[in-house]
Amino acid sequence: MSKRILIVDDSAMMRKMISRVLNPPGHIIVGEAKDGDEAIDLYSKLKPDLVTMDITMRGKDGITTAKEILKIDSKAQILFLSNLDEDRYRSEVESLGAVGFVNKHKSKEILDLIDSSQA
Ligand SMILES: [Mg+2]
Repeated sequence: MSKRILIVDDSAMMRKMISRVLNPPGHIIVGEAKDGDEAIDLYSKLKPDLVTMDITMRGKDGITTAKEILKIDSKAQILFLSNLDEDRYRSEVESLGAVGFVNKHKSKEILDLIDSSQA
């Protein structure tokens, strides 16, 4: 099923890569945010079905940003996309009730988690 998705990542190249994974199966990228504050602002405006969340960003990190989004909308569906060096955050992320935590480069797992999310 097609979902309206907000991509949050401080790297423009990574945002483009994630869109390239999400677009072909029919998901709609409703917005892209390069930092936490922009993500929170866009979440409120766009009410996406799901957010893909980077972890390491300048300013607010992805975990803090996710907590703030969940305060605005406790049903927010947030999927963390990590790099290998971010694996140490896995348990913290899971305790937030996120949709999942998956390596940025595992496109099949990303799509499977989006399909199985409640949004
Ligand atoms: Mg980053």
